[in-house]
Amino acid sequence: MMDSFTFPGLTTRVIFGAGTMARAEEEVRRLGHDKALVLSTPHQKADAQKLAQSLGGLAAGVFAGAVMHTPVEVTEKAVDAFRASGATAVVSLGGGSTTGLGKAIAVRTGADQVVIPTTYAGSEMTDILGETAAGEKTTRRSPDIRPETVIYDVDLTLSLPVGLTVTSAMNAIAHAMEAFYAPDRNPVIVLMCRDAMAAFRDGIPRLIADPQDRTARTQALYAAWCCSTALGYVSMALHHKLAHVFGGSFDTPHAETHAILLPYTTAFNEAAVPDLLRPMAEAFGGGSAGGGLWDFARSVGSPLSLKEIGIEETDLDRAAAIAVKNAYANPRPIDLGSIRELLQAAFEGRRPG
Ligand code: NAD
Repeated sequence: MMDSFTFPGLTTRVIFGAGTMARAEEEVRRLGHDKALVLSTPHQKADAQKLAQSLGGLAAGVFAGAVMHTPVEVTEKAVDAFRASGATAVVSLGGGSTTGLGKAIAVRTGADQVVIPTTYAGSEMTDILGETAAGEKTTRRSPDIRPETVIYDVDLTLSLPVGLTVTSAMNAIAHAMEAFYAPDRNPVIVLMCRDAMAAFRDGIPRLIADPQDRTARTQALYAAWCCSTALGYVSMALHHKLAHVFGGSFDTPHAETHAILLPYTTAFNEAAVPDLLRPMAEAFGGGSAGGGLWDFARSVGSPLSLKEIGIEETDLDRAAAIAVKNAYANPRPIDLGSIRELLQAAFEGRRPG
């Protein structure tokens, strides 16, 4: 039980179920709009066109140019397309890259956002926008960035490849892990995170056996909502900082980077706050939260080492130096030596704890 807390409330409207994408039109109209631009990556263009067709006169067109890390050049093209189309809202269909583009348009134009997430990355419930300009990624938070409505449709996740299913789930678990020790956590978020751990632990192995398992897909998407809410409403620390260092300065793939770092960042902070991370240790077994997550990662075929994603041992000093450059809140004090050690273990893929 927590003795004291602040619960900020949850402002985003959430529709969850199967076949719920059909409710996009009603949700856009509910926000008071009669023209919306549909967004997607090039890969999901056909799905976006289908969605636009189903929106009929409400659709102002499709912009299928979303790419990872929200480059400003792409956003500028998308804002031009948005303005030319006469739309006043966006419908973002896809993973974190597409949601990021919708947020970038919203923050520049005041557009409302209806987001239909198709991965477990968890951008949809947050007020966070990461953008890349001249090769540098910066992150900002603002109430204008948080989407108005999120439609979770289990049917859209059936096509998520097994590899991305696993790493995207690990990405989501990382949000919950850091929420368990966030100084501004509250009982609602902690309960959601506990529920999410059980749902992912049970759902992911079933999805490896059968990616079309609807019950497991429902469990995983529900867990993703819980973890996204945690990311959107409480502070993150070391884990997200390190993932940002690798993604931003070494251009490593987003979900895999989170997946690889997670057991190591968990073990690092578990040494300082074992009680707060006990729900993780209980969910994954293995005697410790860090060790249990590593065992889980291995059992579901998630990548385990930084060397698997192209990081060289000689990169580790620079990564550690960037990670400790600016101070930020973390349950365990951070210094160059201990972060370098953490990165060595993550580079080699050694089981922590
Ligand atoms: P992504 O959105 O780039 O998707 C990866 C690929 O998978 C894309 O080609 C996409 O079209 C495809 N895809 C997505 N869903 C699919 C499905 N159901 N079936 C088949 N293919 C599908 O990857 P991601 O991991 O979801 O998002 C990563 C990006 O999101 C990063 O840029 C990251 O910084 C950002 N992010 C931001 C926040 C935030 O709060 N601001 C949170 C999490 C992630």
